Amino acid sequence: MYPFSITKAPTAREAVDAGRRGGRYIAGGTTLVDLMRETVERPDTLVDISGLPLREVTVTGRGGLRIGALVTMAEAAAHRKVRTTYPVISQALELSASAQLRNMATVGGNIMQRTRCTYFRDVTAACNKREPGSGCAAREGHNRTHAILGTSEECVATHPSDVAVAFAALEARVVLLGPGGERTVPFADFLLRPGRSPQREQDIRPGELITAVEVPAYPRPLKSGYLKVRDRQSYEFALTSAAVALHVRGGVIREAKVAVGGVGTVPWKLPAVEQALLGERPSDRLWGRAAESAADGARPLTHNRFKIELLKRTVERQLRIVGDDT
Ligand code: SF4
Repeated sequence: MYPFSITKAPTAREAVDAGRRGGRYIAGGTTLVDLMRETVERPDTLVDISGLPLREVTVTGRGGLRIGALVTMAEAAAHRKVRTTYPVISQALELSASAQLRNMATVGGNIMQRTRCTYFRDVTAACNKREPGSGCAAREGHNRTHAILGTSEECVATHPSDVAVAFAALEARVVLLGPGGERTVPFADFLLRPGRSPQREQDIRPGELITAVEVPAYPRPLKSGYLKVRDRQSYEFALTSAAVALHVRGGVIREAKVAVGGVGTVPWKLPAVEQALLGERPSDRLWGRAAESAADGARPLTHNRFKIELLKRTVERQLRIVGDDT
């Protein structure tokens, strides 16, 4: 470790002021403290935001949800409204990390977490995300767990969050408070593909603080769920995952929301799969047909070609699980 200072922000506005002066926000600390220990991150000043009043889950409008940024993963997963209206969110949270981490980590911190690429966390390895222009050790290295979608020459790391996949599927919005006031960013625009600047990971401006994630209302009943495929059944990141939400009325699919994880540099929305489902009657044949396009555009690396087939099967299986329940 190395010397740094830490201040506690009494209000969101004072936190933003400290953030604008270069302070790094910390709440649960489950990602940042690790990275500081490994000297991957070396902030001079931490701004402790854990005391801010951003810990509520509220119902909005016609039945959407607003989840405060400091609601812990465990609290959000267990919240009655989350469980009953968007089980895909609860399931994604409960399949993440360990119970101890879920008790500490917050929803806002979860979507801000940084990649688990081993080369990113090894300060002796070439990594454009950690040190722009230094290269990417994963391209020719151990890349079995890396991305097949949304990659660039500069970076092929996956985004590690499970709940971000659920938020992407549901087309949630991120609420930010900054020096210029509040703004809302669609989830699809918030997390950035690496392109030529993999060090830039979110659409977030200096000093901006995530205050909430808003999930829009959908027609009811909305059946939803999250499937995570991984090398072991607990405390492991996804090789592939699928978040699915379906609204069926009169025997026909009227709403279909699908996103996948473990395969993209950001949570990966599947509009072609959604389109293939809309207006159709649920059936085994439909799930298989719709899932066929799940890996379109994939660019596998040396060791992760298996993800193409695994992804299609993951999507098909989760469509069947959710669809057979509609
Ligand atoms: Fe770094 Fe991205 Fe390459 Fe991993 S994949 S080594 S995070 S540049």
